[in-house]
This record gives sequence, C-alpha cells and structure tokens, in this order.
Amino acid sequence: MISEFELIRRYFTHRAQGAVLGVGDDAALVRVKPGCELAISTDMLVAGQHFFPDADPVRLGHKALAVNLSDMAAMGAVPRWVTLALALPQVDPRWLAGFARGFMALARRFKVDLVGGDTTRGPLNICVHILGEVPRGRALRRDGAKTGHDVWVSGTLGGAALAVAAGKGRIALNRSERKVCADRLDLPEPRVALGVALRRVASSAIDISDGLVADLGHIAEESGVGAVIGLDLLPRVAAMTRHAGSMIAREALLSGGDDYELCFTAPANRRAAVAAIGRRLGLVLTCIGSVVRAPGVTHRVMVLDRDGRPVDPDRAGFDHFK
Ligand code: ADP
Ligand code: MG
Repeated sequence: MISEFELIRRYFTHRAQGAVLGVGDDAALVRVKPGCELAISTDMLVAGQHFFPDADPVRLGHKALAVNLSDMAAMGAVPRWVTLALALPQVDPRWLAGFARGFMALARRFKVDLVGGDTTRGPLNICVHILGEVPRGRALRRDGAKTGHDVWVSGTLGGAALAVAAGKGRIALNRSERKVCADRLDLPEPRVALGVALRRVASSAIDISDGLVADLGHIAEESGVGAVIGLDLLPRVAAMTRHAGSMIAREALLSGGDDYELCFTAPANRRAAVAAIGRRLGLVLTCIGSVVRAPGVTHRVMVLDRDGRPVDPDRAGFDHFK
C-alpha cells in the first residue's frame, strides 16, 4: 500500500509552469498579473450524486476540472491555478492513474497549474478549487442584463440530459446518438475563449449547469429583468433530431443540465460583434430571445412555442434540495 505522500508525489505533483511555488509546501504561491482581479470558484463532485461510483476515471478527471474551467469561462476569466481535494475509499492505482490522466490532460490544454490540494480516506468525493485572472472591472457577471438586450447561447443543448435519460431507460438512443450524448455529459468543453472574447460585448453571462431556464433565470433575477425565449430557436444537439417532438427532448433542451455551454446577453447593436466572435472561434452562437421587463418574480423566463404560445417549462432545472 503506498503512502499518502507517495500517492501525491506519483499522481499529482507536476512542475508548476505559472506559479511561484506548486505542490509540496504548506501552501502554494502565485503572482497575480497587475491590473487583474482574481476570480475564485469551487465545485464538488460527489459519487452517487453527480456520477456513478464506477464511472470511467479518465472521464471523471476531465469533468472534475472542466466544470470548474466553465465557471471561469462564465466570468470571462482566464483560469490559472487549481487545487484538488480528494476523498478516496481506497488507494486504487489504476483509478488514480486514469483520473490524473484525464485531469492533467485538460489542465495542460488550458495551461492551468495544479498547485495543491488535500488527500484523505473517505467516500469518493472530488473537490476542485479554481483561481483565474480577469482585468479589473471586466468580469462577466449575472447582473448586467438590460431590457432589449439579446439572449444568446453557445453550442448545442440537451445532449447531456439525453445521455442521463437514456441511462435511466427513459429514451432509446441508437449507438451513435448514445456516444455523442455520453461525450456531452462526460467530456464537456469549457468555453474559456468565448468568455474572454465576450468581455467587451456581453452584458451578462452564466454557464449552463442546471438547465437553460433555471440558469437564464439566475441572470434575470440578478439583473432584475425577465427573458422571453423561443423554443424553436434553441440550438439542439444533432442526436435530438430523431426525438424532436418528444417531451423528453423538450425537457432536455429547457431543463437539462450539464451541457456547460454559455448563456449570455448582449445589446442588440452588438449582433455583428457576437457573430464575428462565433466565426473566429468556430463555435455556433445562437440568439434565442430577448431580455424584457420582469414579467413576475416566479416565472422570470418565458418560453414560447412557434405559435407564440407559452410553454410550461415543467421542471425548471435541477435543485439538489427540491
Ligand atoms: P498539509 O499537511 O500541510 O495539509 P499535505 O500533506 O496534505 O499537507 O499535502 C502536502 C502537499 O501536497 C501540499 O502542498 C498539498 O497542497 C499537496 N497535495 C495534497 N493532496 C493533493 C492532491 N490531491 N493534489 C495536488 N496536491 C496535493
Ligand atoms: Mg492536507
């Protein structure tokens, strides 16, 4: 059985590229660029709650970091440093090697340094803490949406939720649909470059982790406005085509979490600028509606079908305590 220190050394000690001091001392040391603010966020993944205990460790390593990078993206921040707190039921070298591989591959791709953490025995639990830099006053917040602004979303929606629905036997996906949706669920691509590009264009932003209606609702609430979006305008994952009419597909689009796309608002006169960013990044950006005066405090987000009739977004997103 390897010791805790050997485990940290073997799997989680990497030369820090962008930190003054990384893993190995009582604390890491980092230097923030002059003129920048620190963006700080934490996301925890609990076995049985956020993933199956037998989930592929490589994909889990990717996801644990990706959801944190996504929070930086949603702030328009450049992710720089992460710490990793792990509770492990046992030391399983194969699991650890896989997890570290998935985690570190993504960290390298985004030039993020793993600078510290904590390792303890306990029920499988993965907690990542992330620090990023954003020029002073330029962060994308949830409270900047104004009446008349457009509502945008990146990429496609619903894939991750379809994978979950298929896992529960609620929908039958064919092989290729299953693969696409499973990748959307397990291997989200954090939209960091988009967040940075939107700093001077967007008036608010959020990453979609709990479902479009719920997360856009957070923007609306923080900004003291409402939003009207068109069901037919929502960019859907291609795997949804065959199931377009189904209740589950609609639910996946409106309330499905875990897609980690960005939802943002921007003044209508910045449409060309947003489109240019999409072209430059090779990322589909879709205008799905607009910001309106708050229609009411309970239903801040109104979804209209193609005939302009309101759709009841049955489940408004995932809430762990509901
Ligand atoms: P302390 O007793 O001061 O908390 P630890 O023995 O827990 O120190 O950790 C030793 C070093 O290893 C510290 O620099 C800590 O940040 C780092 N570390 C511990 N666990 C991890 C991990 N899972 N990933 C990365 N670094 C870790
Ligand atoms: Mg410790």
